[in-house]
Amino acid sequence: MGTRKDLLNSQLTTNRQPRAALLKSSSRDRFGSSSNTARVPRVSMLVSDEYIIERVEIDERELERDPAGVQLRYNQTEPAIIRDGVDGLAVIDQGDEQYRVDFWGYAFGRLYINSEGVEEIGQKLTSNDGEIPSWILDSETVNDDDPPWWVPESVAIEPTVTCNNCTKTVSAQEGLSPRDLPPSIDGPVVCQTCWDQR
Ligand SMILES: [Zn+2]
Repeated sequence: MGTRKDLLNSQLTTNRQPRAALLKSSSRDRFGSSSNTARVPRVSMLVSDEYIIERVEIDERELERDPAGVQLRYNQTEPAIIRDGVDGLAVIDQGDEQYRVDFWGYAFGRLYINSEGVEEIGQKLTSNDGEIPSWILDSETVNDDDPPWWVPESVAIEPTVTCNNCTKTVSAQEGLSPRDLPPSIDGPVVCQTCWDQR
């Protein structure tokens, strides 16, 4: 539900890292936040500053469309909310305990992080206190028999949810938990089909 996203949003406003203050105003604008009081780059929701080895300013067009590595996608579960964060990211093992992270969406860029950083991404983005995962591993980019070490074992590679209206089990990408569900639906989760037919 909204709780975890609200938490991430509040981290955006509270994680005032020294690095953010060093950024030039142009790059602050690029990662600009929706609030005048929180001029902190969106990347702080991905990984703590202390694990970042290097942050690369990159033109959006330079990001590969389908980079190598394990990809995670943000799973929008609230149809009425317009987000301005990161929609997806790829983690590319560079060897020597270094990882490249390309991320895209409203905010985009490239980071080089250490192994603690990639572990943090695995834990933070795959932990799920809501009904539906907020982030989902792209199964096409993960080897089921040899999942990346930084993804917790409990994380489903193809998670499913059950619709509280038609009781069908659907992929988590098709699950929605809108705030304004009709009271006739007995639970917080609906599938896309039921939502469209409400
Ligand atoms: Zn349904």
